[in-house]
Amino acid sequence: MSAKVWLVGAGPGDPELLTLKAVRALHEADVVLIDDLVNPAVLEHCPGTRVITVGKRGGCRSTPQAFIHRLMLRYARQGKCVVRLKGGDPCIFGRGGEEAIWLRERGVAVELVNGITAGLAGATQCDIPLTLRGVSRGVTLVTAHTQDDSSLNWRALAEGGTTLVVYMGVAKLEEIAAQLLEGGMAADMPVAMIENASLPLQRECRSSLARMQADAQAFALKSPAILVIGAVAATAVEAVLQASA
Ligand code: SAH
Repeated sequence: MSAKVWLVGAGPGDPELLTLKAVRALHEADVVLIDDLVNPAVLEHCPGTRVITVGKRGGCRSTPQAFIHRLMLRYARQGKCVVRLKGGDPCIFGRGGEEAIWLRERGVAVELVNGITAGLAGATQCDIPLTLRGVSRGVTLVTAHTQDDSSLNWRALAEGGTTLVVYMGVAKLEEIAAQLLEGGMAADMPVAMIENASLPLQRECRSSLARMQADAQAFALKSPAILVIGAVAATAVEAVLQASA
């Protein structure tokens, strides 16, 4: 019996953004371990399969990571095909890397399957091109939340000139804005805040670096949301392009 765990990205929410490979893994699964950012609608691809919810939202009811590791190992050692389904992409702030290493160290075969990460999906849903010739030469994905509370070098990011896509930033807007402003980013730098990207409840709030905290508060921005910070987040990207021409 060959033990195998698929670490699969379920995409940002819209079930149509699931990859064909994710669908195949779900078809093959004997057991599916699902995170709470995954839209349960994707489970239509594995009717009758055992599904275990192992949500891990910060501050909420959560399943310890060690328990999830052991659960995957136990099923894999029983020869079951295990699908660990995660929101977005498994390796973008999704612990896919850690889980793959842990399982492989114990002799379990692991296959990673990409999902569309929330940052890319959110931007696209709002017609924001994350890179744009003459405007943005790159994109940087960062998380505002870390396990050890260590801080990112926001000043360096301010100087980097790439579009910033910030995950888990809703509770840290004030700090993010202050540090980027200190790092020399313009106060009027466009910001888009996108909640529930690609889901029917999606909402977007356009703002600027200096105003983003106040605007988010007035808008009652809630997690899950991503922030896109950069010239490409302007409502009228055409104007940005013309100005840079
Ligand atoms: N692996 C996931 C990210 C998990 S971290 C991915 O690749 O997308 C959780 C954070 O992702 C949330 O706090 C939020 O910042 C972001 N996120 C996940 N789904 C989202 C969605 N549908 N809309 C907006 N942000 C989302």
